[in-house]
Amino acid sequence: MRIILLGPPGAGKGTQAGYISKNFNIKKISTGNLVRSHIKENTELGKIANEYYIKGDLVPDKIPTNMVKEWILNQTDSKWLLDGFPRNINQAESLNNILSSVNSNINTVLFINVDTKLLIERLLNRQSIENRSDDNLETIKNRISIYEKETSPLIGFYNDKKLLYKINGNKPIKSVYQEIENYLKKKCRIY
Ligand code: AMP
Repeated sequence: MRIILLGPPGAGKGTQAGYISKNFNIKKISTGNLVRSHIKENTELGKIANEYYIKGDLVPDKIPTNMVKEWILNQTDSKWLLDGFPRNINQAESLNNILSSVNSNINTVLFINVDTKLLIERLLNRQSIENRSDDNLETIKNRISIYEKETSPLIGFYNDKKLLYKINGNKPIKSVYQEIENYLKKKCRIY
């Protein structure tokens, strides 16, 4: 089963990705984590990415697309999960091309939907715990508006392909996971 996790910043994609990966024994990739590790190690790619990252902008498509392409082409297992990719229609189309080049496809897109007010609360709270440089109020607002402009069109994109499953992400983490697990268990009977 090949899954995309879609949702605004602060929806809990990383947390849910961790649970899904562990409980269903599937590999995962987080483009956000990869970008952060390049920034931390001050690689050439990290230096370019940081200019966008600190403002809460999306890094140029080529960076996450190449990361995901390399990762997907190296997977020996057909079960995996993408967290934070694709983030716009261009990336989604690149992903389609990558997958069709290896006769593969996406089975489901889990869309975790959360109210904006709650997102801001959660992200500010995360900042006090994790100290992420992109979790301050100004950057958070920019990330949410970029999400609305660039990423939310993917909801319609995947809905049209009959791949979208919408989850109420306003609920506590465990309830959100429970809903995801119930859905994926049903799906597993198919894939
Ligand atoms: P995340 O941890 O998924 O919230 O991502 C944090 C930041 O990393 C984003 O605000 C972007 O600057 C960058 N990033 C992560 N994934 C992507 C992507 N697929 N496309 C562009 N930028 C990304």
